[in-house]
Amino acid sequence: MTLVRRKHIRRLVQGLLAEHHFRSAPVQVAEIARSLGVEVQETPTEDDLSGFLYRDRLDDSAIIGVNATHHPNRRNFTIAHELGHYLLHDLDDVHVDRDFKVWLRSEASSQGTDVEEKEANLFAAELLMPASFVKQDVEDIGTIDIIDEEVLQELAAKYNVSTQAMTFRLAYLGYLQQ
Ligand SMILES: [Zn+2]
Repeated sequence: MTLVRRKHIRRLVQGLLAEHHFRSAPVQVAEIARSLGVEVQETPTEDDLSGFLYRDRLDDSAIIGVNATHHPNRRNFTIAHELGHYLLHDLDDVHVDRDFKVWLRSEASSQGTDVEEKEANLFAAELLMPASFVKQDVEDIGTIDIIDEEVLQELAAKYNVSTQAMTFRLAYLGYLQQ
């Protein structure tokens, strides 16, 4: 079984953040994608379609498509996810993502997802909510209780992510008091 390349992904993200001089939230993921030569197109489409990555190997160009009808937080996540595929994977010319609900489940219970999807999701979480940025914010706040909804919402808003995504990230990084 192939494992998710956690260290590789974190190092890749750290390099991108340093190159783009991002030192605190929010991280402008579309800006990073464009600077890497990837076009970002927001288009309204069916609700269950989150986005896609199109890659033209002949002229070495790429397009990330995002569902414009989705909430900005979700669109950010989609862009980051597709950028993860772009940087990490040698996929077919067109890769379509229908939804990311599965990423909120624990690793053990997320059957049926392949390692590429897990890696793209981890890349998105690392890029949108960098471990060092989150650490700083958590230190400023003190301790975060899972029932502190207001704190979680404020933190999520600062990072342009959903409260659910932030809660998951805090748990992943071991910062949530249960
Ligand atoms: Zn994907």
